[in-house]
Amino acid sequence: MTHDIYKIPNCFSKSSKKPSIPIQVFEKGDFNAWIKKQNKHIQQQVAQAGFEAKAQSALTILDKDGALSCVLFGLNFPAENLDTASLYKAIQTCCAGKFLSQNVFHIESLHEEDVANKIAIGWGLGAYKFTSYKKSTDVIPTLIWPENIDQKHVNAVLEATYLLRNAVNTPTNDMGTEAIADIVKDIAKDFKADVKIIKGDKLLSKNFPLIHAVGRACTVNEPQLVDLRWGKKSYPKVTLVGKGLVYDTGGLNIKPGSSMNAMKKDMSGAAHVLSIAYMVMALKLPIQLRVLLPLAENSIAGNSFRPGDILPTRKGITIEIENTDAEGRLVLADALAYACEDTPDLLIDFATLTGGIAAGHDLPGLYSNNDKTRKDLHAISDEHQDSVWPMPLYAGYEANINGTISDIKSVGSGRAGHIEAALILQRFITPETNWVHFDIFGWQQVGKAGRPAGAAEMGIHAVFHFIKKRYG
Ligand SMILES: [Zn+2]
Repeated sequence: MTHDIYKIPNCFSKSSKKPSIPIQVFEKGDFNAWIKKQNKHIQQQVAQAGFEAKAQSALTILDKDGALSCVLFGLNFPAENLDTASLYKAIQTCCAGKFLSQNVFHIESLHEEDVANKIAIGWGLGAYKFTSYKKSTDVIPTLIWPENIDQKHVNAVLEATYLLRNAVNTPTNDMGTEAIADIVKDIAKDFKADVKIIKGDKLLSKNFPLIHAVGRACTVNEPQLVDLRWGKKSYPKVTLVGKGLVYDTGGLNIKPGSSMNAMKKDMSGAAHVLSIAYMVMALKLPIQLRVLLPLAENSIAGNSFRPGDILPTRKGITIEIENTDAEGRLVLADALAYACEDTPDLLIDFATLTGGIAAGHDLPGLYSNNDKTRKDLHAISDEHQDSVWPMPLYAGYEANINGTISDIKSVGSGRAGHIEAALILQRFITPETNWVHFDIFGWQQVGKAGRPAGAAEMGIHAVFHFIKKRYG
């Protein structure tokens, strides 16, 4: 495991002695001028195929001997990271492995740095495949690093994304609480960050009763709280918290089999914040970063927590368990309360919290107790085509989560489950803390170019750019 988890394949090279095939990438409107300047032979092939450089369309141009001489590609504009993954896919589909191993590709057209970066990121995401348990025989096309590119940025984004996807795609038998803690320690070593871990019964003596209660039934994966710190003390403090349920059976309120299948992904929140932390550290943003990962497996045994139990919390309020499958809010509650004790300037959590995602599978819900933060983050998510959707922390539903024999209940009415879950989390936040909560699905149901079925990142670019703009 270790470093392999964020290693990107050899899909780029600095230079090459192999023949290099040019790729023309067209941004909005520049195709018509280009085609007019080309010879009859090229114009004929373009006309024959009806190619108009529409978004994400590709065409291979052959020379008079029938050899591939050029690839044309239309870019969506403004470009998304994933758009050029279709370019990668088109090349992989039309060229045999032998050809790909004997030739390389380069971008002929000149682009602004931002677009050039996205072309390379899309290429790198096109090359993503989860191969830990089934070796791939695909030959990976090589792109000469485009000119005018920020290689450091591209590498950081790709490594962070590979880290997230590989961690989530790896099944729980190999991605338990200890394995995630090892990845954090590994990354910390690379970036000279500090890591502290509180695990097992220590969680009780250190006052994390909910993390302990959720994870105590699992002996294979001991519950733990991983705490990473990085960056100068003089910088503003940004704390990221991620739900890390390495597996969720639902506990005593056991899930039906069909709902349990993909539950290795219930640590996706932890993978998301690790991935953002990776970009922050690799690109050295001027913040004091803290990452808190409450890790546990929601398992069934004689010592499982039960529906009806009333549990103490780090915050000091009591919570009545209405359903043991609503466990993410419990581990987050202790971690968020702990985060607030440190008075961060900004606190962001990611969690696969509710199954009934309010805005669909691809659009994470964004909740915040700060109007400006919510608006700014939404605007930046649009700007970077990494959409998130603002949801209300509607005070009218507060009464639903008030307890009768406890301070609060763990589910509420269940009719606006995602809002009530966010309101429950809010009870553990000090009111003056600038807090953002993301309820994500974190999974791609049907694969597409650059985004194969399985683990999927959501909102990481929006959050990274938000932090960069605010503090960079
Ligand atoms: Zn659950």
